[in-house]
Amino acid sequence: MSNCNLPFDIDLDYDKQHIWHPYTSMTAPIPCYPVESANGCLISLQSGETLIDGMSSWWACLFGYNVKELNEAATDQLSKMSHIMFGGLTHQPAVDLAKTLVEITPTGLNKVFFSDSGSVAVEVAMKMALQYWQSLGKAKTKFIALKKGYHGDTFAAMSVTDPDGSMHELYQDFVTKNIFTKQPSIAFEQSWQESAMDDLTRLLKDNHTQVAALILEPIVQGAGGMHFYHPNYLKAARALCDEYGVLLIADEIATGFGRTGKLFACEHANISPDILCLGKAITGGYMSFAATLATTQVATTISEGKAGVFMHGPTFMGNALACAVANANLKKLLTTDWQQLVSTLSEQLQNRLNRCKTLSNVNSVRVLGAIGVVELNQAVNMVEIQKQFVDLGVWIRPFGKLIYLMPPYIASEQQINTLCDAIYQVCKNMD
Ligand SMILES: *Cc1c(COP(=O)(O)O)cnc(C)c1O
Repeated sequence: MSNCNLPFDIDLDYDKQHIWHPYTSMTAPIPCYPVESANGCLISLQSGETLIDGMSSWWACLFGYNVKELNEAATDQLSKMSHIMFGGLTHQPAVDLAKTLVEITPTGLNKVFFSDSGSVAVEVAMKMALQYWQSLGKAKTKFIALKKGYHGDTFAAMSVTDPDGSMHELYQDFVTKNIFTKQPSIAFEQSWQESAMDDLTRLLKDNHTQVAALILEPIVQGAGGMHFYHPNYLKAARALCDEYGVLLIADEIATGFGRTGKLFACEHANISPDILCLGKAITGGYMSFAATLATTQVATTISEGKAGVFMHGPTFMGNALACAVANANLKKLLTTDWQQLVSTLSEQLQNRLNRCKTLSNVNSVRVLGAIGVVELNQAVNMVEIQKQFVDLGVWIRPFGKLIYLMPPYIASEQQINTLCDAIYQVCKNMD
């Protein structure tokens, strides 16, 4: 115990014996690199090496690590209260955050439910949709989701995540069966064809009387394959939901807060969903927090229905510390010329990743906003490739056939070049 505060003495062996890491085995875990600290876009390892961060801690940090304003907001709030139960009590950080979210999200989303993680925000959205129809006396209990979509690891979230070949395949006999439409076939920059809506149209036509909502990740399908699809798909999906009396849930947990070049990806198609999920970058990567927003109509219908209340209320709902940090993060975002930062990053990623196309094992290279993706022809050996990246001084964690970059918005040109060159080098070594 006495050496707990010696950061250079992380007990890796204990970690390996006792701690589960994401999606790994307890008997043959993938090696973990012990981190001492992180600052700006740099991660400092125990070994003394520093790595340029290409992942933003899974899409979460916008301005890098150890951000002055966010630290100050957290410290200020700590001296007031870190947390207070949200049942029957409220506080300024929550009110301020709700105000900002209502103001900056697509129009109509006026009611805010705070929760603790992205997956829970999705559970909440799905429960809202179910309660909405229940309140109207309609037996609509199915969801339509997109193939290759990803919405989280809890059970309801898994039930709308593509069951085939995904990480959730293992539980498919237990997970509620929902309806899946084809992955949107037209990519973001391709020319539009109406026929891309045929499958969704048919499914809605055949099933709308039992479908509560269509849930999708607008424009960017993230963890399911880093696919960027055409804004017209989203626009048409919104119109179809209206036509068939189905709610639209937009999961912007990964895309929210500027990552795709718009503050919210729904803006690419100029649409508003009925329910919106936010998470990941909301606290700038500082702590776990999420929000589900709904239209007044959805909220009112639920509230005037049989139950008279919305039945959800996590212990750490509206956590004051997280709200305070989220407020500081959003203030920083909205007072920064983030459009400029993201479009500069976009250009740099585009220019520098392009030469990966010359390699025969590279299938495609695509960039949208501050997201750069190199798709290979074959899945990579994660352990081996991670070590190569660390040796090159970068932190990049591929999955399957995908090597991608999602750098903090403050990454310098030189840092982006180093990240892109590392990807080129590693792909070349495999070629
Ligand atoms: C990460 C993610 C989630 C799940 O969020 P967690 O905080 O990991 O529970 C849900 N939806 C999308 C689109 C995500 O990218």
